[in-house]
Amino acid sequence: MRIVLFGPPGAGKGTQASLLAEKYGAERIATGDILREAVAKQTPVGLKAKSYMDRGELVPDDVVIAIASDKLAEIGDAGFILDGFPRTIPQAEALDAALNELGKPLELVVNLEVDEDELVRRLSGRRVCPGCKEPYHVDSKPPKTEGKCDLCGADLVHRDDDQPEAIRNRLNVYGNQTAPLLDYYAGKGLRRDVEATGEIKDILDRIVAELPPP
Ligand SMILES: [Zn+2]
Repeated sequence: MRIVLFGPPGAGKGTQASLLAEKYGAERIATGDILREAVAKQTPVGLKAKSYMDRGELVPDDVVIAIASDKLAEIGDAGFILDGFPRTIPQAEALDAALNELGKPLELVVNLEVDEDELVRRLSGRRVCPGCKEPYHVDSKPPKTEGKCDLCGADLVHRDDDQPEAIRNRLNVYGNQTAPLLDYYAGKGLRRDVEATGEIKDILDRIVAELPPP
């Protein structure tokens, strides 16, 4: 399988990418992970990426593409799930060129869809302990005593980033960034929209139903 997985924050993209990787023996390729890996291995592009990261700057498109291309070549014939990449049209075009050169074009682009109110509900339920940093969630992982950390007893904090207003802003930024990419892949006939609400297993089944037979 050779797919790209898109989904807004809170859609469960990382979870589904991991499940698909396991099910199909494919490699999950997340930009953050391969950047860190290239930096740790001190590859030529890794060192280049590090020079931007050390200055607190965004790693530019051409460096991200070079690192992703290295990784795609390295995994050989294994399938892959791209998670969080590409992010821009130039990255998408460069990815197409690199994959065509390897004779492994993309098969599908899966777009996980979750209603905005549901995402706000999921994301705004996060709480964190300011002391030991333990994360909680009011629905899926509530503390034993409301508002108190199970581990150290400190008062839990609802971070500014996790307030509904900030979450709606993040979702808007995501939507604006991703819309041109989704159009790009729709134009190539590769885009499939999958409803990503309900049980994790049901969402996985919906994705699998869209995939080409192995
Ligand atoms: Zn704590």
